[in-house]
Amino acid sequence: MAEVVSLGVDLGGTKIEAAVLRRIGEGTEERAEVLLRRRVPTGAEGGYEAVLDATLALIRSVAADVGRRPERLPTGLGMPGSVTRREGLVKNSNTVCLNGKPFRQDLGKALGRRIEFENDANCFALAEARLGAGRAYRDGIVFGVILGTGVGGGIVVNGRVWPGLQGLGGEWGHHAVGPWRSENHAAEATDGREVGLGLSERGRCYCGKTGCLELYASGPAVERDYYRRTGRRARLPEIAARRASDPDAAAAIEELLEALGRGLANLIDILDPSAIVLGGGVSNLDFLYTEGVERVRRFVFNDELLTPIVRHELGDSAGVLGAALLAG
Ligand SMILES: [Zn+2]
Repeated sequence: MAEVVSLGVDLGGTKIEAAVLRRIGEGTEERAEVLLRRRVPTGAEGGYEAVLDATLALIRSVAADVGRRPERLPTGLGMPGSVTRREGLVKNSNTVCLNGKPFRQDLGKALGRRIEFENDANCFALAEARLGAGRAYRDGIVFGVILGTGVGGGIVVNGRVWPGLQGLGGEWGHHAVGPWRSENHAAEATDGREVGLGLSERGRCYCGKTGCLELYASGPAVERDYYRRTGRRARLPEIAARRASDPDAAAAIEELLEALGRGLANLIDILDPSAIVLGGGVSNLDFLYTEGVERVRRFVFNDELLTPIVRHELGDSAGVLGAALLAG
């Protein structure tokens, strides 16, 4: 049976993680074993050269420890942000010293091999589709959703990332579920209640638009909503736990469920994926898999909802495992 050994690198704002993965088998039979894992600080305060050097040193040390030469070890890189399709320059990274720099090419040049690349959401989706909660559906389309400080996602088709023509595949956090005019303060929910706080409260997304899903369904969005209602700051798990006794907490969670229900239903109407895997901090709320799924059922353009909507299985490991799966 074919065996593939590859290296994944997950470049985060504070740490760089590397993992060597041994994979055996194909399709739904694929199994993987982590041979080695290591983390080092990103050292972004030292600037571009420092991050590049730290990444190179990590890759070389990990390769040496599994008895491989770096140029012979298939390597994938995952990080927030993207790479311009034409010039290969990093953009939208939260490690800002990388923006505008050819990080992937510089890494490849120094190591003497091609480096595969995808953003962290695509790496998450790939890992969950092949080794995690979506593996039973890997022969179809798995949509991996990140609900964290932002809202992102990735599309995996037959076990491969579908990055899209412009690298936008799965970037559903900036499709609109809310109102787009400032005077349009309320939308009507399915039971006739007025929901949706409108532009004046939700504000404009950093992307420049209004009504983006991310303004409703990210952790900070729910926390800001609760603060607007109460003048009190609370973290999302606390807001969720107070639902039964605090009407403002209940209202903030209701907005999250409504936005997520509409957003996932839109996604299913367009892509009709084989399964949806939820990840990121917000995905740890248990009621998303009961009340949240019910809300999707209400909005989807069908009289039934067959789509499995499941919780991630790989946790924080998905990024580095997905990066390793890009290569080899
Ligand atoms: Zn936006």
